[in-house]
Amino acid sequence: MTQSAHPGTAERPLRAAIVGSGPSGFYAADALISRAGLNVTIDIIDRLPTPYGLVRGGVAPDHQNIKGVIRVYEKVMAHPGVRFFGNIKVGRDIQAADLRACYDAVVFAVGNESDQRMRLPGEDLPGCHSATEFVGWYNGHPDFTHLKFELDVEAAVVIGVGNVAMDVARILARDPHELAGTDMAGYALEELKTVRKLKRIYVVGRRGAAQAAFSPKEIKEIGALKNADLIVGPDEVAGMEGKDPAAEGWDVETKQDIEFLLKKAQEAPAGKPRQIVLRFLRSPVEFLAGPHGRLGAIKLEQNALVDDGKGDLKAQGTGQFETLPVGVAFKAIGYRGVPLPGVPYDVKKGIIPSAEGRVVENLENRKLVPGAYVVGWAKRGPSGLIGTNKGDSIATVEALLNDFAAGKTPPNLAADPRLEALPELLAQRGARWVSFEDWKRIDEEEIRRGKAAGKIREKFINIQEVLKFLDSTR
Ligand SMILES: Cc1cc2nc3c(=O)[nH]c(=O)nc-3n(C[C@H](O)[C@H](O)[C@H](O)COP(=O)(O)OP(=O)(O)OC[C@H]3O[C@@H](n4cnc5c(N)ncnc54)[C@H](O)[C@@H]3O)c2cc1C
Repeated sequence: MTQSAHPGTAERPLRAAIVGSGPSGFYAADALISRAGLNVTIDIIDRLPTPYGLVRGGVAPDHQNIKGVIRVYEKVMAHPGVRFFGNIKVGRDIQAADLRACYDAVVFAVGNESDQRMRLPGEDLPGCHSATEFVGWYNGHPDFTHLKFELDVEAAVVIGVGNVAMDVARILARDPHELAGTDMAGYALEELKTVRKLKRIYVVGRRGAAQAAFSPKEIKEIGALKNADLIVGPDEVAGMEGKDPAAEGWDVETKQDIEFLLKKAQEAPAGKPRQIVLRFLRSPVEFLAGPHGRLGAIKLEQNALVDDGKGDLKAQGTGQFETLPVGVAFKAIGYRGVPLPGVPYDVKKGIIPSAEGRVVENLENRKLVPGAYVVGWAKRGPSGLIGTNKGDSIATVEALLNDFAAGKTPPNLAADPRLEALPELLAQRGARWVSFEDWKRIDEEEIRRGKAAGKIREKFINIQEVLKFLDSTR
């Protein structure tokens, strides 16, 4: 293959690496292969041996219909120019500079894999966890399968009122038998079945009901649970009755949320085994130890909403406090990115800094890093549903292709654009990669194991076990 100044032809296809195989990575790949007249070959690299990012490791097991989106990604993988290199971590097995040498363009689609800390006293007490850990654990994500959770407590608290908080509250509240046929990790299901004492799950939001980030669909699902009553105390929606949504600046979703919460506030609890209790306008200020040195309670400060001077409302402490006895806490206050060696990182925002999807050294100098692009949560931070990533990835790919068309990308940036370059490099480094054909075998085995257990799928929960399975069936 010869080098030319215009990659994208049949003679010299554009070589793109996409780091991360979650929704944003697949939508970026799709946008590249769908571009008429462009010849492109794409390597999708993921640190896990399994593709699909948070669709596999984040989306709740009782939201199986959402996972159907994988069919779109499978179509991308069916394109002859697209390869998968699983079990390859950029920053460990291969460096960003190595990719730079093998590809014309590198698109970072690494998501936001860490979480925000609250920096509160007692945050490191046993029993105080991030939602990331709990979600990863019940979904069988290999990073979290070793964790242990003490769930057999009378009360739990979920901090945050976004959709992740709703997932955590719902999974805790459900009768585990409702989850038995899903792809929830087997050990998590067994652990949930042992929970006897849990009666109450508090869900705490810093601001008011009108500022809650949950979607109407998620809160309605909580309100319809078989095993739990949703409790909305009159104080939580005080003064909202009869408010004009337009005058309040509520969007359609907020209006629906408030209507639903007002309705729920009127209803008497049906006496279901568990309760999900919403508490708005409260900020945790301390996690308190119980008699065994584990989390025993959470101290909350009541807030009032005040103008933040930027056209929004912020929560301000009123100096009034309350303490809720809770045996376990889950912080669902947002994810943040993990810095990749050799790739710019904005510490404040926890993302890869960019301008229209082009990676920049930092947000102040906005100096472009040639050939580097970013999509998805790594670009925007942890907001947006799976579908949100589609338009976002299309926009970044547009910028990428414009750069090539306009000759803005230095020619011959990729010193070794051969298809063999990455496999050779990985072999030299002794890094073992999992191909898409390997994944198909893993997928079939998981479905087979699931069928035997009366479930949709029983996931491999350990990378070594995956590799051993592949070796034993090769
Ligand atoms: C708990 C939870 C539940 C959600 N539920 C829903 C839902 O029900 N419906 C919905 O529409 N949206 C849901 N979302 C949102 C949705 O999952 C995100 O919008 C989407 O996954 C973001 O896509 P992404 O590709 O940017 O990141 P991710 O999906 O996180 O993908 C990032 C990928 O990068 C890989 N990676 C990271 N670092 C490296 C590295 N160094 N080298 C190689 N690979 C690396 C990871 O392994 C991962 O596969 C949920 C999110 C969470 C957290």
